[in-house]
Amino acid sequence: GHRIDQLPLANSFADLPPAHYTALMPTPLSKPYLVCASASAAALIGLDIADANDATFIDIFTGNQILEGSKPLSAVYSGHQFGTWAGQLGDGRAILLGDVPAPAIEPSGRMELQIKGAGLTPYSRMGDGRAVLRSSIREFLCSEAMAALGIPTTRSLCVTGSDQIVMREQRETAAVATRMAQSFVRFGSFEHWFYNEKHDELKTLADYVIANFYPQFKTADNPYKALLTEVTLRTAHMIAHWQAVGFMHGVMNTDNMSILGLTLDYGPFGFMEAFNATHICNHTDQQGRYSYARQPQIGEWNCYALGQALLPLIGEVEETQAALRIYKPAFAEKFQELIRAKLGLQTSQPDDGKLFDRLFEVLHGSHADFTLFFRSLGNVQIDVAASWEPVRDLFIDRASFDSWAQQYSARLKVENSDDEARKLAMHAVNPKYVLRNYLAQIAIEKAQNKDFSEVAKLLQVLEKPFDEQPENEKYAALPPDWANDLEVSCSS
Ligand code: AMP
Ligand code: MG
Ligand code: MG
Repeated sequence: GHRIDQLPLANSFADLPPAHYTALMPTPLSKPYLVCASASAAALIGLDIADANDATFIDIFTGNQILEGSKPLSAVYSGHQFGTWAGQLGDGRAILLGDVPAPAIEPSGRMELQIKGAGLTPYSRMGDGRAVLRSSIREFLCSEAMAALGIPTTRSLCVTGSDQIVMREQRETAAVATRMAQSFVRFGSFEHWFYNEKHDELKTLADYVIANFYPQFKTADNPYKALLTEVTLRTAHMIAHWQAVGFMHGVMNTDNMSILGLTLDYGPFGFMEAFNATHICNHTDQQGRYSYARQPQIGEWNCYALGQALLPLIGEVEETQAALRIYKPAFAEKFQELIRAKLGLQTSQPDDGKLFDRLFEVLHGSHADFTLFFRSLGNVQIDVAASWEPVRDLFIDRASFDSWAQQYSARLKVENSDDEARKLAMHAVNPKYVLRNYLAQIAIEKAQNKDFSEVAKLLQVLEKPFDEQPENEKYAALPPDWANDLEVSCSS
């Protein structure tokens, strides 16, 4: 492992022409302290979080000390927000420190380190350049939880806090979240150059992304079409994973869509609890543009926005459309594959689509808990009536559940499903532990009183989402009544 002050930092993004970013220094925070750190994220870049309480570590990941080799910068991008062209946005509070070797990470072998909440940048617009402790802990826990669930995501190395006050609806305190990804380039990074009619910069950015993160396309007939095809595919697959685990992003604006197909920019996200297909997790999203049910089509809309931006490089409208056309079938195929696995089915049968559709209707009709449903369904023994009770108890409308359960039982018998083997397979894909809003809230409230133990505990639970953790049963429980009143909204 590296000692923190010897972390071999470079910055390949800084090699892009200066128009792509602004070089700048983070604004220090007074008396920072460590809130939490992820051992598995740290291990990717050869760091040991045993060192995370060192003053140097804390200073570096608060932006108070700059490592040699670091060329701190904020990137420019634009984007569509809630379906409307928003013009220039950019890293309004995030500063890229640089990149470090990460041997296990394909294909670049590097991870960029970005500190979020590190002060004003030229792209801060009306914002103050800061992040609050609450939202920083939420991003930290969720990105590490998503990684443990096997869902493509940016990672989170640590969060540092300070007693420095930040004004939101209430007085809160400032924090800095350190994120890691091979790249933080967004769909909106490309849209920026397209809408500014700077096609040379557009090409420079696309060539940079291909050279560093999609080198296999360098020699393709049309590298830009190959890029769009692959990003469309990755986005469809990422969103299929979101739907299958009940994750709602909350702000699927094109500036929050990763060119690597990673879940990016955790804000007012949520995990589905009482299933409601039209659930809106972001309090600010009154129209429900980004509701659970709409995520798949919004993902496609966003890919079209990227396609529009890449059109000058791809050359032909028809070629661009051909790349985008793979979204729908790619999503449908991946989603079916994931639901099939969640139901413990080993074969594909002609009427499976109907069985799956009916399940979502029945879940919606009873507002059954999404995570508990799939997890407890894995414990069912087909011919043992009593074994169905814990699942059945999640439904208010028992008759609808019973009729679905009959279809499901019959379907299992078609493939001679073995109860014990199916249970193992289902528990390996249906998490027992997800980041329920109320669990995050409890950890946040303790952290706001300087007790960071619950953040660490929750991380530990969420790092093994598929394991039975008998000592942590309560983290798998239904949310308490007070959780109904929790609200999360845009940028905090
Ligand atoms: P979001 O939808 O939260 O990812 O943010 C949209 C845009 O607002 C991005 O350009 C952010 O950098 C910027 N932004 C959000 N919060 C702040 C803040 N507190 N200070 C400066 N810029 C911000
Ligand atoms: Mg510049
Ligand atoms: Mg954003």
